[in-house]
Amino acid sequence: MSKTSNRTLTLIHLYPDLLNLYGDRGNIITLRRRCEWRGITLQVHSASLGEKAAFDDADLVFMGGGSDREQTLLFQDFQQHKGPALVEAAEGGLPLLSVCGGYQLLGLYYRTHTGEEMPGLGLFDAWTEAGSTRLIGNVVAQAPLLGEQATLVGFENHSGRTFLGSRGGIQPLAQVTAGFGNNGDDQGEGAVYKNAVGTYLHGPVLPKNPALADWLLSKALERRYGGGSLSTLQDTWENRAHLSVAQRFGKK
Ligand code: GLN
Repeated sequence: MSKTSNRTLTLIHLYPDLLNLYGDRGNIITLRRRCEWRGITLQVHSASLGEKAAFDDADLVFMGGGSDREQTLLFQDFQQHKGPALVEAAEGGLPLLSVCGGYQLLGLYYRTHTGEEMPGLGLFDAWTEAGSTRLIGNVVAQAPLLGEQATLVGFENHSGRTFLGSRGGIQPLAQVTAGFGNNGDDQGEGAVYKNAVGTYLHGPVLPKNPALADWLLSKALERRYGGGSLSTLQDTWENRAHLSVAQRFGKK
């Protein structure tokens, strides 16, 4: 399967030591493998508290999820040391995947159930307010961004309820058919703004959703090399894992 294409992509993994719930780190492993299987090299640089991140040279950014405690530890560093450069790069089309707590801090603010308000970067025209109960469970959702019949599956656990505005044409990533999604009310799951993606799906999300992984990689290749073609992979196990969740938890 391995072809040599001499193409290299650079990914910045934000706060890997603080934001890594439900194996979110597995998303990096998935992106790296899906690159390797096409002869593409994925270089991964981490940037945590007090560390600089060279978003100008990056092709992809990943940010995982974390508890309110972890978010409280990092939101000021995120605002001051990463925020402005990341927003500029994402406005310029830098592909980005953010999960749950990371997704919330890319919005306008996150207000916790204790009333503490953490300002976000405002990349996403979205805001999050914690409820008194947690939204927990398996999720199945329709994702037209990835194809007419495409679905996304994963696991969610969050107290935050996220609501999307309309600036810049922000759209939900998917529509839930099982599970809560952004807020348990409007069926929306996640957000898409330019090439930046937010989702509540843990698991990690990418191993069971290869279409989303390849969507991100194609956007990165397009931006870096002017062409995003990716050879098709068999994805036997990926599709079986996806289907088993969709059949087990999807609405009958
Ligand atoms: N702490 C946030 C919340 O509870 C995010 C949780 C998460 O990343 N799973 O909503």
